[in-house]
Amino acid sequence: MEIQAKKKFGQNFISDPTLIKKIVTLIPENKNSLIIEIGPGTGALTKLLVQKFDKVVAIEIDESLIPILHRDLNSENFKIINQDVLTIDFKSLIENEKQNPEQEVYLISNMPYYITSEILFRTFDVSDQIKKAIFMVQKEVATRLIAKESGNNYNNLSVAADFYADKKYEFTVLKNKFKPVPKVDSAIVSLTFWDKYKQELNGNDQEFISFVRKIFNNRRKTILNNLTNITNNKDLSKAILGQTKIAENLRPENISTNQYIQLFKNLKVQ
Ligand code: SAM
Repeated sequence: MEIQAKKKFGQNFISDPTLIKKIVTLIPENKNSLIIEIGPGTGALTKLLVQKFDKVVAIEIDESLIPILHRDLNSENFKIINQDVLTIDFKSLIENEKQNPEQEVYLISNMPYYITSEILFRTFDVSDQIKKAIFMVQKEVATRLIAKESGNNYNNLSVAADFYADKKYEFTVLKNKFKPVPKVDSAIVSLTFWDKYKQELNGNDQEFISFVRKIFNNRRKTILNNLTNITNNKDLSKAILGQTKIAENLRPENISTNQYIQLFKNLKVQ
């Protein structure tokens, strides 16, 4: 039976076995891992995941797909949660589903594109509990995720992604690989979470991410003007930039993750 894809849920299904294998292979071959999938759809990736790993938990909003998933994936190591992923408490979910403290957790999703940013930021919030995420995103989002400072696509998402993870643009997936065919091409990006920068901020990372977001609110303006919007004090902003060795006339897109961290730290001690 042909499933009617629902636009409101961002449903674009994949079915090419070679592509499915190529995506799933990005999760290391350790049977013991816990896999969480966002948006299993009709189970294209899920079927292979269930064969390869000890435990697969999938979160799907579309009620009409649940009986299909139960029928096709009637396996003890598979659990389906019929819920909006944006209402999931990932921290509790992972704690409850992990079979032992050492078990590695992987997140995988052919993303519903209408909530890509929300899913990314929610993933970042629990990045210390996840080893690696494999995400299918729009190609443009993939280029943002991996962009370096002064590159065309560099924005607050690039800084956030760099802060939390070692990122890799794995490969492009042409739009004709999906049913229905979307407007744009996609790409698979992998995020291997690290604490390279996190240690520097002593748990203030969410505050840091919202600071970077505010700075990028006016990406055409100078860093001095953007910082002054936050401090409400131009002299203080000049002093902090001087202390951080960042030129006042740079734009938000010219500043690296490390420089943002130093800027944030210098702002915090004022
Ligand atoms: N994994 C399948 C595949 O690769 O063919 C389907 C991918 S499709 C692009 C996105 C999936 O996410 C759909 O199954 C859709 O119903 C589901 N979805 C959309 N919004 C969701 C939400 N808020 N919470 C959970 N799942 C959602």
